[in-house]
Amino acid sequence: MKKQLPDNDDAWKEKLNPEQFYITRQKGTEAAFSGKFYNHKEKGIYNCICCGQVLFSSSNKYDSGSGWPSYWQPIESHVLNVNQDKSHGMIRNEVVCSECNAHLGHVFEDGPLPTGLRYCINSASLGFESKDIS
Ligand code: FE
Repeated sequence: MKKQLPDNDDAWKEKLNPEQFYITRQKGTEAAFSGKFYNHKEKGIYNCICCGQVLFSSSNKYDSGSGWPSYWQPIESHVLNVNQDKSHGMIRNEVVCSECNAHLGHVFEDGPLPTGLRYCINSASLGFESKDIS
């Protein structure tokens, strides 16, 4: 069943704090080393702050040194969509939540094996649920 999600900015603003709104709905970026999850090492799952869809597992998180939480793969491939982003004079691959289209961050091809990918994600776009996973 499809969840009932806000369909306009005013409705999202009621659900999100100003930083969460700016990042997820307006494609913002938090300052490096400022977010709550870049150095977060607990076991559990990370979900979309907007719609709750489970996005990443702590078992695929690694320390990229970038200052943003980094993962080498999503929990399942269908939870993310990737769009070409030509803003700020760069060509990057934007990562969004497949359920609610929240801007999450970008994916780069300088990650660790086995994927070689680095999903570079804003902490403010994520929630966390502690879970004992391997
Ligand atoms: Fe979402």
